[in-house]
Amino acid sequence: MNIYAKLLLIWLAAGLVSWKSDLVDKSEIRRELSASTSPVILGNKFVPENLVAQAYYYAEQLKIKDDAHIMISLRSHLPNQVSGYTVYNDDRSNGGTIQVHIMLGERFSFAQQSRTLAHEMVHVEQFVTKKLVKCDAKRYSWNGGPCDHVARISYRSRAWEQEAQRKGSQLYIRYRRSHANTALTSAK
Ligand SMILES: [Zn+2]
Repeated sequence: MNIYAKLLLIWLAAGLVSWKSDLVDKSEIRRELSASTSPVILGNKFVPENLVAQAYYYAEQLKIKDDAHIMISLRSHLPNQVSGYTVYNDDRSNGGTIQVHIMLGERFSFAQQSRTLAHEMVHVEQFVTKKLVKCDAKRYSWNGGPCDHVARISYRSRAWEQEAQRKGSQLYIRYRRSHANTALTSAK
């Protein structure tokens, strides 16, 4: 066998090993996911630990006990001047989990990020309990009602936003009172 044939074989073997390890990793992740019975909240490496801890506090206060996977990210650019937003994917009808991604603006103060996080966690509760259901890319259903085009309802008139504003502010105030000794800084 010449040197090129040998190199090709080594390369193929290396490819096979990495493909196999990829499969192993995925099945391990699946096992971990199916073993969890309460929300798992993670932040990417830019998210301060106490913001993740705060999300756990809000989940507990909102009694979110479902097998939800919540990811928090800080973003430099957010659409339409918002301070944060949440997207979700509900795989529960297929035996999977509900996956939620909360995006917070990184240019905001830690206090503002905390406030926004409380607001977004109320949306998580709305998604988990199916009080708020995304019918398709443009329409939402609230409290078992019809699927309405979200663009036709002003932000302030949306029932889910009114609830998130009210409950989110209460949650944030409760958090600040019960964590009076925790500095409101973004120090990791
Ligand atoms: Zn909102």
